[in-house]
Amino acid sequence: MCGVCGIYNSDKAAEKLYLGLFALQHRGQDNAGMAVWDGKQSRIVKDRGLVFDIFGRGTLAELPGTAGIGHTRYPTAGDSSVANAQPHYADTKDGRMVIVSNGDVTNMLEQTRFLKSRGFTPYGSNDAEVIAASIACYYEECGDVAAAIGRMMDAVKGSYSAILLFNGAMYVFRDPLGIRPLAMGYINGGWVFASESCAIDTMGGTFEREVAPGELIAITDRGLASSRLTVAGRCRHCVFEHIYFSRPDSVIFGESVSKVRFKLGQALAREHPAAADFVLPVPDSSNNAALGYAHEAGLPFKLALIRSHYIGRTFIGSTQAIRDFAVKLKFNPVRAHLDGRSAAVVDDSIVRGTTSKKIMKMLRDFGAASLHLRISSPPIRYPCYYGVDTPRQQELIGSYKSVAQIREFVNVDSLGYLSLEGLKKCLERPDDYCYACLDGDYPIEPPALK
Ligand code: SF4
Repeated sequence: MCGVCGIYNSDKAAEKLYLGLFALQHRGQDNAGMAVWDGKQSRIVKDRGLVFDIFGRGTLAELPGTAGIGHTRYPTAGDSSVANAQPHYADTKDGRMVIVSNGDVTNMLEQTRFLKSRGFTPYGSNDAEVIAASIACYYEECGDVAAAIGRMMDAVKGSYSAILLFNGAMYVFRDPLGIRPLAMGYINGGWVFASESCAIDTMGGTFEREVAPGELIAITDRGLASSRLTVAGRCRHCVFEHIYFSRPDSVIFGESVSKVRFKLGQALAREHPAAADFVLPVPDSSNNAALGYAHEAGLPFKLALIRSHYIGRTFIGSTQAIRDFAVKLKFNPVRAHLDGRSAAVVDDSIVRGTTSKKIMKMLRDFGAASLHLRISSPPIRYPCYYGVDTPRQQELIGSYKSVAQIREFVNVDSLGYLSLEGLKKCLERPDDYCYACLDGDYPIEPPALK
């Protein structure tokens, strides 16, 4: 759950990256950063906090140049200290490489051990630093960036959608299974890249296509060159990008997120109809699924739960009292819609169950007569090792309680999850997806049990 973007050959690169990072803020709110090539060196600015906190107060002036990379971060490896914020860097005899990446390296320990044997001293504990150090290490041996990235792809396991800037040239690459998304487009004679197409739109670019799994796009003085460094048998895109993470205005893995979510809601209504007066989404990520549910069920759609968009993770984590109160700060029901009525509540997933329980209590306190909870994905039973910060398996309610027990725990009148078969039918190429947190079929060996 991070966002990356890059821009090449465009005036005031930092200003456009700033817009791109805004569009990717939902993918990470703990850190943000940018590196811009000024013709002699890559200048890096990164810090804790939201994009506006870091770049909204004059910092962009410190980043002149026409090529740069940016990152928003939600930690999955390493804490949220500035040392772990991206861009990361690695020095070579020919200059400094800077990199941004979205994903998780699963053989981090082994690769770090190997790099340390070659003199690597980590300054943080983040896997993107290990990717940068690996490329730098192989580059010192072979003197060719593309070949060094190819060797990194052979050695480093896991997910990465990454952009590297080195002496004014840009290298964009994605892991062989294409687990995390990465889109490319053009902008006034230059090139633009981002985790999601919505960021390309916001930067003023035109979405062209996705970077292919295992592809390397190198942009240098000589122009753009694409090559497939590795070709896996099949892709394993993260299905939760469609269910929850990505913005609905993005095109991810060749499909509109908004349309997929609508179809999930329709399928859910067919599998689990509800005797309800209206459909209520848990905003914002469930809005489109709830619309699909309402459309299929022929029920009214009401925004009976309002979400505040101004509650950051840093604020929520600041004191125990605020943590206890977090759900109340984030959501507030609309009594006028709920009073004495029965609601089909649509949410995208249940992780620990504690948030759902609090939301359901809130809805009852505001007058709901009965609640039928509908989830637009199957139960999450296994942790993710490819870039999503899921808790340990013991904390995933779907791993130790049956659906009937979860219904009792969250205290609803009925509970229905979309089936795995139903989910797959909503995707154009279902065999190209990872479902490991749902079925335990990990496409890459997990590092160790969480
Ligand atoms: S395990 Fe789940 S969250 Fe992780 S990449 Fe696979 S589908 Fe996505």
